[in-house]
Amino acid sequence: MSYVDEVLERVKTKNASEPEFLQAVDEVLESLRPVIEANEEKYRKEALLERLTEPDRQIKFRVPWVDDKGQVQVNTGYRVQFNNAIGPYKGGLRLHPSVNIGIIKFLGFEQIFKNSLTGLPIGGGKGGSDFDPKGKSDREVMAFCQSFMTELCKYIGADVDVPAGDIGTGAREIGYMFGQYKKIKGTYEGVLTGKGLSYGGSLARTEATGYGLLYMTEELLKCNGSDIKDKVIAVSGAGNVAIYAIQKAQQLGAKPVTCSDSTGWIYDPEGIDVELLKEVKEVKRARLTEYAAARPSAQYHEGRGVWSVKCDIALPCATQNELHLADAKMLATNGCMAVCEGANMPTTEEATKYLQNNNVLFVPGKAANAGGVATSALEMSQNSERLSWTFEEVDSKLKDIMVNIYHNIDDAAKRYGKDGDYVAGANIAGFEKVADAMLAQGVC
Ligand code: NDP
Repeated sequence: MSYVDEVLERVKTKNASEPEFLQAVDEVLESLRPVIEANEEKYRKEALLERLTEPDRQIKFRVPWVDDKGQVQVNTGYRVQFNNAIGPYKGGLRLHPSVNIGIIKFLGFEQIFKNSLTGLPIGGGKGGSDFDPKGKSDREVMAFCQSFMTELCKYIGADVDVPAGDIGTGAREIGYMFGQYKKIKGTYEGVLTGKGLSYGGSLARTEATGYGLLYMTEELLKCNGSDIKDKVIAVSGAGNVAIYAIQKAQQLGAKPVTCSDSTGWIYDPEGIDVELLKEVKEVKRARLTEYAAARPSAQYHEGRGVWSVKCDIALPCATQNELHLADAKMLATNGCMAVCEGANMPTTEEATKYLQNNNVLFVPGKAANAGGVATSALEMSQNSERLSWTFEEVDSKLKDIMVNIYHNIDDAAKRYGKDGDYVAGANIAGFEKVADAMLAQGVC
């Protein structure tokens, strides 16, 4: 049995109840086959893949808090510190009822390669809780965040592990968590990123994932003989990534016509009104029905369906496994030329293969959405320097990073005879640096 198959078997046996984690490991190891086979003996002896697929540590804890009625509620908190070969653990905190250890492990594993691709010194980690901020008052969210950080603060630090936002964790939640960390530890340090501008946040961090996704898409099209201008774009999601992807797409002359949330989706043939979307989602924290009510050109549909709209480019920006095989077929039939993932693993494995086999350019999230964590690392640099850079400075660094990532994944794919396979390219380019660092640091 090949070394890759041996490790895949072992990971499946050990993590049988974690489908998302198995999906992520399977995708990465499958595309690393040529690299592993070229070094099989050495990597097997060093147990490199066993070490890469086993987190450094998994922390699970109780999060008790009191709701507005005086009732004590209990949630579960997680932090998975996956790999710190190239820098302190770095990765977001997801607050969503669907969170469990398997989801956090899949996200932490993906984060290792994504962070490596940025070219910056950050390792991979992820955390979160099954707490749902939706429908909670500010006081309840604060109570949860303070309790969550009371435990988490024992395991993180500016040079140890630096969490950030993710689904359900925005500026409000980061603020409450930062306040609690500072109070307990008595130090003012860059222990979280995505902070407010008045206390160490970076300009352009809010926009970074969505903007970075568009810089990647722009470069991808340019290098494949096309142009983003005037392209019709289908976007899913209506959160941080989706909103700023829509905004940058419009700045680049494209026309995003859809967005969605967990209850329904919008088709707006005139193009999404991003200011209205921000008002509905960022200010009122309301449903998309309010967008449709305020915008005569918009149609609201219950359920899922953004991928049925005819588009040139698709940008899934909501959550994992939201673009299925049937959606991929519809996109290809409708002439979609590129899918770039704003969310983490939004495309199922079979949908990804279908797109790749049907000449749709496909860039995986670990490359296409790396702008968020890259800018988080720029926030860490500014905190260490005790300086703040201008928006233009951060944005121009972000653009350079995304263009570099595109060329790195393209080159890595070509080196292994997989021209145009950006999934393989991203996994290979991300893996090479981490593997090199792990081998150099010995068995640890
Ligand atoms: P937000 O919480 O701001 O927005 C998430 C959006 O996706 C919301 O519109 C939400 O709808 C929708 N959504 C969430 N879960 C589901 C679901 N199960 N089914 C359908 N829709 C759903 O999160 P972000 O925009 O920050 O994150 C989106 C994705 O991008 C995630 O995969 C995240 O891991 C990834 N990502 C985020 C980065 C960042 O910097 N924020 C960086 C890199 C990746 P509703 O409002 O109804 O819940």
